[in-house]
Amino acid sequence: MSVLDRFLRYVQVDTRADEKSQTCPSTPGQLALQHVLAAELREIGLSDISVDQNGYLMATLPATTAGAIETIGFIAHVDTSPEMPGDGVKPIVHRAWDGRDIILPDDPTAVLRAAELPDLAAQVGHDIVTASGLTLLGADDKAGLAAIVAASEHLMTHPEIPHGRIRLCFTPDEEIGRGANLFDVERFGAAYAYTLDGGNCGELEFESFSADVMRVTFVGFNTHPGYAKGQMINAIKAAARFVERLPHDRLSPETTDGYAGYLHPYQMEASVDRTSVRVLLRDFVTSVLREQQQIVERLAAQVAAETGTRVEFQVQEQYRNMREVLDHHPLVVERARAAIRRAGLTPIEKPIRGGTDGSRLSFMGLPTPNLFAGEHNFHSRLEWTSRQDLEAAVRVIVEIAATDKH
Ligand SMILES: [Zn+2]
Repeated sequence: MSVLDRFLRYVQVDTRADEKSQTCPSTPGQLALQHVLAAELREIGLSDISVDQNGYLMATLPATTAGAIETIGFIAHVDTSPEMPGDGVKPIVHRAWDGRDIILPDDPTAVLRAAELPDLAAQVGHDIVTASGLTLLGADDKAGLAAIVAASEHLMTHPEIPHGRIRLCFTPDEEIGRGANLFDVERFGAAYAYTLDGGNCGELEFESFSADVMRVTFVGFNTHPGYAKGQMINAIKAAARFVERLPHDRLSPETTDGYAGYLHPYQMEASVDRTSVRVLLRDFVTSVLREQQQIVERLAAQVAAETGTRVEFQVQEQYRNMREVLDHHPLVVERARAAIRRAGLTPIEKPIRGGTDGSRLSFMGLPTPNLFAGEHNFHSRLEWTSRQDLEAAVRVIVEIAATDKH
């Protein structure tokens, strides 16, 4: 089965993650897709195929060469973003796309225009895949799943390609930040791994943000508003003043890119009595998070003093820049870089302004950079990929696996 056919099959299974769910996986569709994948891997001839009670699928591609070669791994996630509908996905293949606007049939206001999408404009003549206008496509990360399964099939049917033992893992709930939570690194048993969860052909990512989340709670005093004179202290007004004082022209997502970090208020729970603001702290240098925290604490304390509220802080670690680990394992990144070149592509190395499961896994003892899988406009109705991107990802996986080349 071609990588495109596999991809078209996977996107039709609804695997939208659900943050409110306490189970793992958060939704039953993810488990349904894991069983589809397990059956395909069995058919291809992989061994040790298991789906554990938390919905993690693991499998082994046995070595084709003897000798002490370390085990490497490939990882992708089965869930899709909770931000967009993922049920009833109808993938459309626009064969040999001619560069004209792609109008999605189920909602004609959803249009992919080459003039607005330079990555798409670069793929005239390719077989572009989109959804039909009402849902996301799910290339994030079913493109990664399809590439890994297709590459496994290629390796199984070409035993003349020498490679060591290879482990695969398909994880649940990456989109809600839980993908690494129950990942059994020891059972996976690889020296290092690659997530297939990136965008453009040739992309190789080995730096991510370091990330904390902070909860800033203003405590006021509530009383009947008709008789509140001289008594009420409105925590909502204090929180609003605090948010307004956060940096605007710097240190905010709207005004930064590249290596610049930010502090980002993104959720508020408001009442007169208590209002909390959740603030994301992000930087590529972990020690800078501490400085960001101090900025937030200073501004909030000022506002509390002015408004007569009390302020409480909670800080929670989210993930750390994977580079802190990968710098100690330069061959992991170099192996991918060389494979991308052998696959006929130019490595594109950019910092990830976010985190991946690899950010967490790297600190759990499994160094894991991220590779492209052909995901474009993810978490959107205008999400797309192409057959050519999927095939390039398959080539790169095969090149990474092959041990005679490096
Ligand atoms: Zn993803």
